[in-house]
Amino acid sequence: MRTQAEIARLTVLREKLRPADLRGEDHCVRCTFCCQARTCVPAPAEVEAIARFLELTPRELLRTLCVADYQWDPRETVYYPRFVGVRNVDLAGTVVSNDRTYNEGACTMLDGNACRIWEVIPREGREAACWREPDTFEPRLEWKAGQLERMMGYERGKIPA
Ligand code: SF4
Ligand code: SF4
Repeated sequence: MRTQAEIARLTVLREKLRPADLRGEDHCVRCTFCCQARTCVPAPAEVEAIARFLELTPRELLRTLCVADYQWDPRETVYYPRFVGVRNVDLAGTVVSNDRTYNEGACTMLDGNACRIWEVIPREGREAACWREPDTFEPRLEWKAGQLERMMGYERGKIPA
């Protein structure tokens, strides 16, 4: 859930940036509002490509530029990465409660009004369409239980909090 302070910040920012849905457009106007509201979830194959692009190993990328979010499952919690937000950079590489990932601030990959990994942008960012889904932040998960832990070099279910 978003904090009141975050809701107030985003309300002001939305008015200032005027995303496509506010302008009545049916295409992205590159306003960056979505990148400042909640960060992308890269799919497993995208982690590899982004890490290569940034000249990091996947583990370095996940431990220094992402936090672990999670989806509760009755059998086993499934962890998945999100790019860290500017307010939570000190939490990179750890599990951050799902509530808090709504309150991270702008994505650390945002550079001015551009995504600095544009060449390998995650599908979630590439397909963002606020005019169709104004406030949809549920990721289309491609992560399986234990997969993120393996890539980060932790035991299954043991990413530090
Ligand atoms: S999809 Fe994102 S960047 Fe594009 S117009 Fe909408 S909020 Fe702005
Ligand atoms: S990875 Fe790029 S497109 Fe996705 S939230 Fe961050 S800056 Fe935006």
